Amino acid sequence: NFNPMMYQTNDKSPLQIFVRAKKKINDIYGEIEEYVLETTTFINALHADAEIVDKAERELFESYVFKVAAIREVLQRDHMKVAFFGRTSNGKSSVINAMLREKILPSGIGHTTNCFCQVEGSDGGEAYLMKEGSDEKLNVVNIKQLANALCQEKLCESSLVRIFWPRERCSLLRDDVVFVDSPGVDVSANLDDWIDNHCLNADVFVLVLNAESTMTRAEKQFFHTVSQKLSKPNIFILNNRWDASANEPEFQESELAKVKSQHTERCIDFLTKELKVSNEKEAAERVFFVSARETLQARIEESKGNPPHLGAIAEGFQIRYFEFQDFERKFEECISQSAVKTKFQQHSSRGKSVSGDMRSMLDNIYERITIFRNLKQDQKNLLTERIQGTETQMMQVTREMKMKIHNMVEEVEEKVSKALNE
Ligand code: GDP
Repeated sequence: NFNPMMYQTNDKSPLQIFVRAKKKINDIYGEIEEYVLETTTFINALHADAEIVDKAERELFESYVFKVAAIREVLQRDHMKVAFFGRTSNGKSSVINAMLREKILPSGIGHTTNCFCQVEGSDGGEAYLMKEGSDEKLNVVNIKQLANALCQEKLCESSLVRIFWPRERCSLLRDDVVFVDSPGVDVSANLDDWIDNHCLNADVFVLVLNAESTMTRAEKQFFHTVSQKLSKPNIFILNNRWDASANEPEFQESELAKVKSQHTERCIDFLTKELKVSNEKEAAERVFFVSARETLQARIEESKGNPPHLGAIAEGFQIRYFEFQDFERKFEECISQSAVKTKFQQHSSRGKSVSGDMRSMLDNIYERITIFRNLKQDQKNLLTERIQGTETQMMQVTREMKMKIHNMVEEVEEKVSKALNE
């Protein structure tokens, strides 16, 4: 049984649950592949020697080689996927950038992406993008160029642009998290296509709301459709732009607390009563009040060696910054456990069934070989018995012949001496 918690030892990031489980299952599959190859070679040799294994059986063994190789390939590519949804300009791209600690996705007015953008790690320090249906690696020199590439292209709203960013630049990319940014849910009529093409294998969904307004019908409708197609999707809700509320001159602290609790209640109700995807306790851990723009600025300051608060936009920076970090921690726990379950549990039971099937086939062949060997032994025994019988007979015949010859010789001698005497 695959227990994700088994892998949660000393490492600080909860993402290591997935990283270690992936390494472990890849190692196990490496061993399964060796076993399958070795067995198939052995079976082929048996087939050449004797008629113990038939053609169908041999082909079945060979099919396991392909099956295991295909699973290994999928396993090596498996990752954790998070998809961001919400209305245009709520800050989806900014949240992704804040999590990546760098301005990778273009954001802001005029930089609205009208297609899906996926950010994933690349090996070898390269940054490039790839458009759907093409293998061409388009070099990404800087963010401006990337923004232009995404805006100028007449891309279909449900098509996908993949942005490959050097793994070593960000721990989330290094640990195999893939980010998907979507066009605003307010612009699309094709929610079904979106979900079928980009969401069915997402481990976590993040709904990015604008804390200055209430959740819209389009935002709700999108998640209703998601939860009809997926059983219990993991949904986090970020009330973004919380700095703006703190900046409102007419907002007293008590007023702010009231707004926050109203939003919280609505979000929890949405997850529990409307979508029925979580219970109250779980839902309370999935709703956050953050400022993506501020967090990104703080992290850029940090990367320059400055204190993070230099990125602050409004009063209460520290609380919002902590809340963003709290979101990241809970998100990491959720995504790694969910990905281990959905991605590896299936593979581990397939691996078990392949090795189980091969074992019972081998047991079967072994049984046949034993019967075959016993049969040969019986034939050998019978032959030995016969030979022994013939030998005894021969000895008797020889003895009789000897006696006869002896008697004949004596008889002849007697006759000869008799004749001589006469
Ligand atoms: P998207 O369309 O949902 O991806 O939104 P963007 O990330 O492109 O953000 C739209 C605009 O809102 C940009 O100018 C961002 O800088 C700004 N923005 C995003 N998040 C925040 C935030 O938390 N606070 C403030 N004040 N502005 C934000």
